[in-house]
Amino acid sequence: MPSKPADQSHQAATGLEDHVDLVCVGFGPASLAIAVALHDRGVKARVLFTERQRSFKWHAGMLLPNARMQISFMKDLATLRDPRSKFTFVNYLKSKNRLVAFTNLSTFLPLREEYNDYLTWCASHFEQHVRYGQETISVSPMKNRQGTIQSWRVVSQDVDTNDRSFITARHVVVAVGGKPKIPSGLLDDGLDSRIVHSSAYSTVVPTILADTDKVYDLAVIGGGQSSAEIFNDLQNRFPNARITLYIGASALKPSDDSPFVNEIFDPERVNTFYNLPHESQQKTILSDKSTNYGVVRPELLDHIYESMYHQRFREPHQSKWRCKIEAWREVVGYDKLPDGRLQLKLKNTSSGEDTRGMFTRRYWHLLGIFFHQIALLSGGIIDFNSERTL
Ligand SMILES: Cc1cc2nc3c(=O)[nH]c(=O)nc-3n(C[C@H](O)[C@H](O)[C@H](O)COP(=O)(O)OP(=O)(O)OC[C@H]3O[C@@H](n4cnc5c(N)ncnc54)[C@H](O)[C@@H]3O)c2cc1C
Repeated sequence: MPSKPADQSHQAATGLEDHVDLVCVGFGPASLAIAVALHDRGVKARVLFTERQRSFKWHAGMLLPNARMQISFMKDLATLRDPRSKFTFVNYLKSKNRLVAFTNLSTFLPLREEYNDYLTWCASHFEQHVRYGQETISVSPMKNRQGTIQSWRVVSQDVDTNDRSFITARHVVVAVGGKPKIPSGLLDDGLDSRIVHSSAYSTVVPTILADTDKVYDLAVIGGGQSSAEIFNDLQNRFPNARITLYIGASALKPSDDSPFVNEIFDPERVNTFYNLPHESQQKTILSDKSTNYGVVRPELLDHIYESMYHQRFREPHQSKWRCKIEAWREVVGYDKLPDGRLQLKLKNTSSGEDTRGMFTRRYWHLLGIFFHQIALLSGGIIDFNSERTL
């Protein structure tokens, strides 16, 4: 792949600005796939990746024990483009001496922990091109006298020192992934440290809920895959805690990965989708929502249902259940009570705006598990703090 650009220490010492052919902002799977493809095709270009994390990590806050991939490992960083690439999941397994044993598992869905290890293994091949610990704060066009854009200026900030660095690039790819989204009603006074977004779940929860035997009162909010995984994980992690899952819909719903529907993810669909007018794109996203958004993998649904059934078998009185699922509930805010508890305000979504449908629940801890939001472009300048979505 690309020739090596000037290193950071050199840049910091001399104040020089790097000039490269391509900058990819964010070094998650999307950018990593670009690195792999450029490598496989032998493209000779100067390429840099900026990444705000200090090392490669794939959704580290949600690497839960036994959580599985939601798609086949065949859709890895290389196989469908070039099965002979060094960067296929199969070659990763071979190089770790697990190919035969993995085959014996008869699964297309490895653990997410193993897939993270695969991605980290791929990323390790591109270390010299990645600037870890660098948060990109803006990308702005550089124009000539005629007003034509000649290149882009990428400004990043060191996450430890706040020192700024600058790169001029002919092309920029923005691959910054989603952004944690928390309902405004929970942000009135800033975010209480007991309200945790799913993206920080496995890093924050062991710190704030340190005693695994304690009788915690916990709420999980949301009806998608992450909420269901967390609801399930909490039951194992805290065997005495009382846990309620609040969902806005009538029930937890299954994700659809049946073969015809799954064709929406076929590589040749990308350009067709990209070329659609904005309105049609929105319509398509809505009609394919059940593949991914606000839905749960059927195996996990079955597992949760079975554990709820065992609870019902052991304890017939619902009021005594340790784990509950409450449907038709939307979180609209919370109050802090004098004793320190959080009083969650919920709306009954089946009765619309009617205030008689409002009610409250009291918690010492609240785990808010919400959507991710896609990040943002504004005009020719990409402002990473803007609230506009793509
Ligand atoms: C818990 C969870 C499980 C998932 N499981 C699957 C699955 O099994 N299969 C599947 O297909 N998809 C899954 N997804 C969807 C997920 O979006 C993709 O797997 C994939 O992570 C998308 O890659 P990405 O590079 O676009 O974004 P991300 O993985 O979000 O990577 C973006 C990167 O950009 C960095 N970044 C952000 N802002 C900046 C900035 N300003 N400057 C520098 N760096 C920045 C971030 O730190 C991050 O490393 C899952 C998502 C989640 C949350």
